[in-house]
Amino acid sequence: MHDAVIVGAGFGGMGAAIELQRLGLRDLLILEREDDLGGTWHVNRYPGLAVDIPSSTYSYSFEPNPHWSRLFAPGEELKRYAEHVAVKHGLRPLMRFGVTVTGARWRGDHWEVVAGSSVFTARYLVTATGFLSMPKTPDIPGISSFEGRVVHTAAWEPIDLTGKRVAVIGTGATAVQLIPELARQASALTVFQRTPIWVSPKPDYPIPPGVRRLFARLPFAQRAVRWLGSSVLELMMISGVVRYKQLRVVNRLAERWCRAHLHRQVRDPLLRRELTPDYSFGCKRPTFSNDYFRTFTRPHVRLETSTVERVDARGLVTADGRTDVDVLVLATGFNLWDTNFPAFEVIGRDGRDLGAWWRQNRFQAYEGVTVPGFPNYLSLNSPYSYSGLSYFTTIECQMAHMRRLFTGMRSRGSSVFEVTRRANDEFLERMRAKVAQNSVFSLGQCATAHSYYFNQHGEATLLRPTSTISAHRAASSFPLAHYDFSGQIDHQVRQRNARAQVLQMRTNDLCE
Ligand code: NAP
Repeated sequence: MHDAVIVGAGFGGMGAAIELQRLGLRDLLILEREDDLGGTWHVNRYPGLAVDIPSSTYSYSFEPNPHWSRLFAPGEELKRYAEHVAVKHGLRPLMRFGVTVTGARWRGDHWEVVAGSSVFTARYLVTATGFLSMPKTPDIPGISSFEGRVVHTAAWEPIDLTGKRVAVIGTGATAVQLIPELARQASALTVFQRTPIWVSPKPDYPIPPGVRRLFARLPFAQRAVRWLGSSVLELMMISGVVRYKQLRVVNRLAERWCRAHLHRQVRDPLLRRELTPDYSFGCKRPTFSNDYFRTFTRPHVRLETSTVERVDARGLVTADGRTDVDVLVLATGFNLWDTNFPAFEVIGRDGRDLGAWWRQNRFQAYEGVTVPGFPNYLSLNSPYSYSGLSYFTTIECQMAHMRRLFTGMRSRGSSVFEVTRRANDEFLERMRAKVAQNSVFSLGQCATAHSYYFNQHGEATLLRPTSTISAHRAASSFPLAHYDFSGQIDHQVRQRNARAQVLQMRTNDLCE
């Protein structure tokens, strides 16, 4: 039996593995359906792929990367960073690739994890399958009859688009990166937009080699840059999700900033109008780009805002007419809250099915990480888990939660944890009240903004409506009485714990 099975070898799964190793768990198994590590940054390879928040904030705080080539690093650097972390922390040997987990079941004192014909057992189960990992194919009539090539951005394969007529469906953050690149190659590009997106200028510059050397030699210099970037992102998050009532002026300024950017790049008033969102900034994920708007002014690029009614063998048909194309690009995002969530069937105590329970009740998880009825289970992609605008804030809060939880459990000589129903209910009510009372989702104009921030019941259950400081504080100081502890730790584990505690004390001494 393994100490823990972690599903997903992206940054979330790797963070969990690093934390569990620090806690003294040695026999870890990381299962990954893809053929390599890196999650999003392994899967996504579309042209223009880059991190869409400053790179200085998009890394583990304990593993700074002084080598980013730009303020917004391209996708392949993120993949390289993931590889570096995996090698440095000895994670590669723990990983098994090409293994798609199909189900997991709690067996009274351990988890049984099924992947095809293989069965793995473990004391603890961690799912880190990512929020944006199930590509969404739009349900447009006739799409399977299209005789050209159809490609989703999350399954990109190199395509020579020279001389090709291309259509893109979708104008989310991915499309904003991709569209200018496609326009450079295609002979004709038509973009089918359902909802426009708020886009601000991108302060993206190369980081000169001298500055990179400085960051390598003096990590605190890079920490200062990280702090600055995080503070700006935190302000955006707080003004939208935590204190909209008091700080809506920040959102309004952001809207003006984006509008001015659009005005600078697009002269045609009709095109401007079509590209201007009619919902409040923050209702769905805004993004950065210096060439997105301008691309629509190129003679061979066209914005189409009428609904795609159907696709046939040659192209797409809307109420306004037809567009024949050779390649259809689906920049249509990901399924999040539907029947694919969580990514595989998880059956807890008394046969409770996590996905069904979430859908029949409300989407909920204590501190965005544990669920009543699911002992020894950490669900990293949970409702209200996403903290701050960098995914790494979320990951590190969850790592802190694991640290406190496991340390508390062991100090009681226990091996099984389960969050209490009461603690979970109180957390859910607090989150719901905060979203209802002071977020753009309830006070702004979000009616026309479809977004994966909202579940199918129209509730904004993805983002945690607190500051990141408060999320970190909660993760490292939640009352241990919020958990029931049971089971007996075995002798071998006891010895390992003692060693881990000594190691932890030494690390603390070094940090102090
Ligand atoms: P998305 O934000 O969900 O956007 C999907 C787009 O497809 C939307 O414009 C949506 O229109 C449209 N769409 C979906 N179904 C459609 C249909 N049936 N007919 C017409 N249009 C349809 O997905 P995404 O752009 O892939 O971005 C997902 C997230 O990935 C981003 O928000 C961001 O967080 C992340 N991302 C991150 C990076 C990074 O660097 N870290 C880079 C790219 C993306 P509606 O808005 O009308 O639904």
